[in-house]
Order: sequence, then structure tokens, then C-alpha cells
Amino acid sequence: MTDIITAPVLHSLNPATGEVVGSVPITPVREIPAMIQRAREAQREWRRMSLEDRAACLVRGGKVLVERADELGRLLTREMGKPLREGVGEVRGCGAWMEEETRDIAAALQPDHLEDERTISTVFHDPYGVCAAITPWNFPISMPHSLVIPALMAGNTVILKPSEETPLIAQAYVEVLSAFLPSDVLSIVHGADEQGKALVAGDVDIIAFTGSRETGKKILGSASGGLKRVILELGGKDPLVVLHDADIDKAARFAALNSFRNAGQVCVSTERIYVDERIAPEFEQALLRHAGELPVGAGEDESTRIGPMINLRQRDHVLSHVDDAVKKGAHVLGQGPSAQGNFLQPTVLTGVSHEMDIMREETFGPVACVMRFRNDDEAIALANDTPFGLGAAVFGEEEHAAQIGRQLDAGMIGINKGCGGAAGSPWVGAKQSGYGYHSSREGHRQFTQARVVSRSKPS
Ligand code: NAD
Repeated sequence: MTDIITAPVLHSLNPATGEVVGSVPITPVREIPAMIQRAREAQREWRRMSLEDRAACLVRGGKVLVERADELGRLLTREMGKPLREGVGEVRGCGAWMEEETRDIAAALQPDHLEDERTISTVFHDPYGVCAAITPWNFPISMPHSLVIPALMAGNTVILKPSEETPLIAQAYVEVLSAFLPSDVLSIVHGADEQGKALVAGDVDIIAFTGSRETGKKILGSASGGLKRVILELGGKDPLVVLHDADIDKAARFAALNSFRNAGQVCVSTERIYVDERIAPEFEQALLRHAGELPVGAGEDESTRIGPMINLRQRDHVLSHVDDAVKKGAHVLGQGPSAQGNFLQPTVLTGVSHEMDIMREETFGPVACVMRFRNDDEAIALANDTPFGLGAAVFGEEEHAAQIGRQLDAGMIGINKGCGGAAGSPWVGAKQSGYGYHSSREGHRQFTQARVVSRSKPS
């Protein structure tokens, strides 16, 4: 529960200025069961519509998102802090991909036809019923979007519980889509953990969650009573391994961008950097140079590349990780993390070790932590020494890097690039970073119950 909730109203604060951007009413917990019931009734009709008709409703909403991208992108930036170009791009991206996305999901949900010598079967991919989608603040429209669209396309109705940090853009998103949907097919619950808990405990059939590992564990525990279906996309501690034969400047540029983008508040941010000791001094200097090319400021300022942290609590969490590291022997290279309000300067730490919190827990801030290794086996062991397993990257000669990449315990591994896969790949975390996944044919099918209908072949 955050300190910004004071009354039945949730104020959304601009992290750059502390000003109130707007407010929404907090949903009383006692109203949540009735909302779920309405969603259940609406689902009976929604599931009868064809995939094409469901897609057509969503595509209309997508067009409005594109038309209103500048306005809604500014709202997103004022509420969450990221640079305006990224805020507008996030809104436009959700709208612009809608047509292709719904087409891909419809293709993924077609029934499968199977037969052997004696039996003919059809595997249908049917909706579960009511889906609770619970989302974080760091990509406050694309995170809801990536759960809401596949859930709706599959014929579920959805109740979205967005982060209490970014309720306004989520409200706008739901209003845009709902204008083209039957009532109660998509609804929204505002509030923090209390509302999230009530939704998970309510009569929902599937829970799709993106957020921290700690919250994910609580949700899984609560959902286990009713054996509800759960999809969890959780936090990460992504390693970047820089091999001796890497293009040093390219690796350093990637390290800076991927450590500092969105002020480090990305689930697949580079949180740990392992560099071959033979090239470490040159890499560290290049990293420092690239870090200096990213101006920090308010997202609405044109020159800003790195916005503020979402709130003081997150800022202090990052500072406490840096403090702990420095106390245990890490060096701050160049400028330190000097904080002004919610703003943190990008920081490069060297000489870090696995005894430090900053190499073990998710930091979620603009800090690049560099540790040197002596040989490839040590690099692999260090990269895998974590309970997390979301993304990873390896920079080096292409074959060498690919061979190291295959040995990393992550769900998504980039070779001389970030971890995102080609269109149609799953977004998937290994180990404690995920439980289920989304995107891809298999990801879309997770929002459905498989049902096999079989008959005997005539003899
Ligand atoms: P969070 O876990 O604190 O909150 C996420 C959502 O869960 C919010 O809407 C919150 O109100 C709700 N919530 C909190 N406690 C709850 C409970 N007990 N029951 C039900 N709902 C509850 O995470 P956050 O700070 O909003 O987001 C940052 C985290 O999200 C980071 O760990 C980041 O790595 C992760 N993340 C993961 C991905 C991914 O794809 N794997 C993507 C984006 C963010």
C-alpha cells in the first residue's frame, strides 16, 4: 500500500514534480465480488462472438489509441516520468499493433485436428471465464495491454487492476477500448494491494499478473486454494556477459542504454555486467562515456533521455543498494548517484561482488554494476548465480557468444543484442522470474482451457 492513498480517492503524482496529475476513486473492496459477477454474466455473450468479431471491436479501440497517442502519451509521461517520446511511442505501439496482434492471436486459437488409426480428435481452445489482470507501473499501458488483449481475444472477460502509481493512463486505456465492447467485458478496479488481494481471492478463473517476484509468490499462494490458473511475469536480475572478443564500444553502449533506459525501471534492464578482465579497463571507460551521454530530467523536457524514479521509496531502495555496495568495497566510477527529488544520476560501479545486495536483489534503478571474470566458465557460473532468470545478453564473437548464451539459465538470451525475440517468440522468464509466459502461440493459448473432443473412426 503506498503513502499516496489517503482517502477514497487515489491521487496520481507526477514523479518529476510531485504535483497531482489527477485522481480516480478507489474501488471499495466490498464492490469487487459484484463486479466479478457482472463480468461473468457478460462473458456468456462475449464468448459466443467469433474471434473475428472480437478482434474487430479491439481494432476499433486500437485506432483511437493511435489517434490520441500524443495526448495519452503526455498523460503517461506526466504520471510515470519516462521521456515523452517513449510515452507517446508506448501508446501508439499498443494501438498500431492491434490489428496484427489480434490476427496472430486468432490464428493461435484455431482448433487443432488430430487423428490416429482409430480416433479423430479436435482440440478446442476455449475461454476460462473471468480473468483478473494485475499490472505494474513501469510500462503503464503496454503491460495491461499485453494481458488484456490475449485474454479478451480468447473470449474471457477481464477486470484490470493497474498499479496504484499509474491509474490515469490505465483508466484512459480501459475507456478507449470499452467504447467498442459490450458492458462489463472490460472493467477496472483502482487501488493497491487490498484491491489486488480481493480480486485474486474472488470468483475469477484465471489471474494474469506482471510485477515483482514477492507479489507473484503471494498471488500464487492465494490462488492455490481454488486451483485457479495463474500466469506470472516477474522481476529479473539480468546479466550481460562481455567476452574478450567483443566489440568493446558496442557492448559498452548497449550496457549503458540497457542499464539506464526508463531510469533502470525495466524488468529486462541489465542489472549485472560481467566483463573479461583482459578488456575490463577499456570497457569501463567506454561505459562511463556512454553513461555521460544520457541527460537526466523531466520526461516532458525534449532533451531528457532518463526520467525520474517513480517515487521516493524506489529512489531510496536504489540508494541503499549503492550504499551497501560501497561499504563492501565497490568503487563509484565518475559521478555518483547524487539524488535530487526523485531524480538519480546514472551511476557506474566497479569492483562489485556477489556479497552485495546490488548483485543479488532486483535494484530497478539507473546503476551499472561491473564485475571482472577470468575465464568463460567463471562468467557462466556468475551469470547463473541468481534465483532470477528473465533475460540475459552476451557480447562477443558471434559463435563464441552464442555458445556461452546457450549455457545461461534465462528465458530470453540476446547475442550481441537485447533479449527480445523475433515476432512470435514467447516473452518468458525462467526460474523465479516467471510462471507461465505470454506472446507466441503457446502464450496466447494459456488464456484458454484446452478441450479435446474425440470420436472413433468408422471401421
Ligand atoms: P508490484 O509487485 O509491487 O505490484 C504489481 C501490481 O500488483 C500492482 O498493481 C499492485 O497494486 C499489485 N499488488 C500488490 N500486492 C498485491 C497482492 N498481495 N495481491 C494482488 N495484487 C497485489 O510491482 P511494481 O513495483 O508495480 O512493478 C515492478 C516489478 O514488476 C519489478 O519487479 C519488475 O521486474 C516487474 N515487471 C516484470 C515484467 C515481466 O515481463 N516479467 C514486466 C514489467 C515489470
